[in-house]
Amino acid sequence: MRATNANVADMLAALAGGVGAARFLSGLLDVVPATEVTAIVNTGDDDKFHGLWVCPDLDSVTYHLSGNHNHETGWGLADETFRVMEGLDRFGSPTWFRLGDRDLATHLYRTERLNAGATLSEVTSEIAKAWGLEINLIPMTNDRVATRITIADNHEEQSLQEWFVKNQSTPVVESVRFENAEMAQAAPGVIEALSQAETIIICPSNPIISISPILAVPKIREVLIDRRDHVVGVSPIIAGRTVRGPADRLMDALGIEVSCVGVAATYQDFCGTLVIDSRDADLAGRVNSLGVRAVISDTMMSNSRIAAALARETVAART
Ligand code: GDP
Ligand code: CA
Repeated sequence: MRATNANVADMLAALAGGVGAARFLSGLLDVVPATEVTAIVNTGDDDKFHGLWVCPDLDSVTYHLSGNHNHETGWGLADETFRVMEGLDRFGSPTWFRLGDRDLATHLYRTERLNAGATLSEVTSEIAKAWGLEINLIPMTNDRVATRITIADNHEEQSLQEWFVKNQSTPVVESVRFENAEMAQAAPGVIEALSQAETIIICPSNPIISISPILAVPKIREVLIDRRDHVVGVSPIIAGRTVRGPADRLMDALGIEVSCVGVAATYQDFCGTLVIDSRDADLAGRVNSLGVRAVISDTMMSNSRIAAALARETVAART
């Protein structure tokens, strides 16, 4: 493995949400050395529960890439128990956001370090290292950016986790905003990684609540627009449907076509190439006509072999 002195020309950067990104990145690390990859992760989902700072997307990527994710639930750690949540139920504390006993150690450690003055990127790198990761994992920003969801029928604004977990993403959405994003600075290393990467990958993540918050950080958007020809996205929408999660409902509510064409329209300012699924081959012409070059591949990552093949084709997709 080419360990520490990776050629700059080989470097890859990836914009990542949670589970969709993690599955893709896991395939990517089967085909390129982890030390050549910088993953820039959404923090718009982050929130405080029981006084603890929780970063769902960073933790999904960390747990998944270290092979410790929970296959059944799709979130959290394997072999998890919920004794602390049961204990909190006794006091009537709200426990709709389920934090497992093993998982709680991550949030306790992160919160303690943040309270002691460490930045989120410092703590993220410590946590990734402790789980044995060699990939460079960075939060998009060390500033607080919060994804806020406005509900259509009563115009009430909710935090992302209230809408997604507590209300199971059922209330119809009127709009989505990223509180404080305009003021946020990219975390150290983010702009450097995006400027130097041979290819910038937009992982198959939720375009509205995983990728858009990252692009809402002004400097990140600027550098991506500048480097549009180096950016390759992977569509999270296959045959008009999300593989899992609420991306389809969100796109539909915001008036975006639920297809790889809608994804291309959302990304067209900063993404030169989009990998779309072979089931959507008939939509390639419409993606191309948006000025986004469509590359057709098998994007349903049903096993690690397909994920690795998709990663290889994504890296090769940039001309
Ligand atoms: P979350 O924050 O945990 O919801 O994760 P992400 O935002 O990273 O990923 C959610 C998106 O990943 C959803 O829109 C899914 O459709 C997409 N996704 C999950 N698995 C696959 C897959 O195998 N192939 C593709 N193309 N997209 C996937
Ligand atoms: Ca997420």
